[in-house]
Amino acid sequence: MSTIYQLMRKGKPVAELSQVLKQATGVIAARGEGVFLYDEDDRRYLDFTAGIGVTSTGHCHPRVVAAAQRQVGTLIHAQYTTVLHRPLLDLVERLGEVLPQGLDRMFFANSGSEAIEAALRLSRQATGRPNVIVFHGGFHGRTVAAASLTTSGTKFRSGFSPLMAGVHVSPFPDPGHFGWPVEQATDFALAQLDYVLQTLSTPADTAAFFVEPVLGEGGYVPANERFLAGLRERADEHGILLVVDEVQTGFGRTGKFWGGDHFNARPDILVTAKGLASGFPLSAIAASSALMEKAWPGSQGGTYGANAVACAAALATLDVIQDEHLVENSAERGAQLKQALQLVADKHEQITDVRGLGLMIGNEFRDAAGKPDPITAAAAQQEAARRGLLLLTCGAWSQVVRFIPALVVDADQIDEAADLWADTV
Ligand code: PLP
Repeated sequence: MSTIYQLMRKGKPVAELSQVLKQATGVIAARGEGVFLYDEDDRRYLDFTAGIGVTSTGHCHPRVVAAAQRQVGTLIHAQYTTVLHRPLLDLVERLGEVLPQGLDRMFFANSGSEAIEAALRLSRQATGRPNVIVFHGGFHGRTVAAASLTTSGTKFRSGFSPLMAGVHVSPFPDPGHFGWPVEQATDFALAQLDYVLQTLSTPADTAAFFVEPVLGEGGYVPANERFLAGLRERADEHGILLVVDEVQTGFGRTGKFWGGDHFNARPDILVTAKGLASGFPLSAIAASSALMEKAWPGSQGGTYGANAVACAAALATLDVIQDEHLVENSAERGAQLKQALQLVADKHEQITDVRGLGLMIGNEFRDAAGKPDPITAAAAQQEAARRGLLLLTCGAWSQVVRFIPALVVDADQIDEAADLWADTV
């Protein structure tokens, strides 16, 4: 029985609900302001989850609130296959300025999973090929097709098979998983990819590679430039499309505008959501016009995509990111946070790795035998919440405690979070 259905049941006490939904903290959020959430008793929490990396401009940034309020009073919804609207037209222009060169055509939906599905449909239509290759530990969403591309944990796949056919999995260059230096892990990942292309999904059958620049739900493991260059090379050689899933890594989260910017990723299709609209449901894919024109009319669409209020919030989000230098802040505060967390880890044997980019940092918990330790990670997460610091876990075994504050976080708030963490573990 899914925990979500139980969560929705009427009359369940909070404590019981949070036990059912193992990650939940038992906090009922009443309001949010910047990096803080307040519960119904007005207790303050440092929110280092940001709604799973969504509210990057902070909770209820005044400029986002004002833009959304203005739009609510003007036009809430107009379906874009019938009539266009100004916030959408303006957003296309503004996104065009920040997207990687050549990706000038966009399609909008409401969630990361939907956008992944759109990228999958486009890849198959554009190439006429059935298969995709994904990388071990990747997370691409929870709809059936997106879950079929997801290998970051069995919980996202089990119980609703059969999943979509035509998905092949190749290793991600994860040095921690293999216990190898990054060079060796990359050699292995690329050699295995060639093996998959020779034996399981030949180029003639392979529409696309789907890859995250940093494994998100898979444990905050960055890719690297040589691996992404290897994907680009093989994509070019065989007419395979490179789909870069920036749902979690986009909009400054990693200290560059796109996570792929760290590795010169050069996607054919970029998928984005989360940080795009500061919490309003909005996602997008971007590709070249030549590629996008290969989608059949009507094959991409949906009633609510590119909602006018969400688009207005996204425009305000882009303004805030630019005017408040949030990408730079993410890099600087991320370095500060990583250093502080490393100091804590140095004193704790069970935190074996602190990793990530910008304000996307994971702490790996392992037991004395070197095995992933989700129990200690979950206990730390819950104790941190009790002390007023909200955190999430990730990783295949939920053995990683991750820090993803809003990009508006300042140096004092980073220090406060690091102190709370040091007291927690
Ligand atoms: N892709 C990545 C990299 C994600 O991190 C997520 C969500 O966490 C998704 C796709 C799915 O997005 P959503 O939960 O909005 O469907």
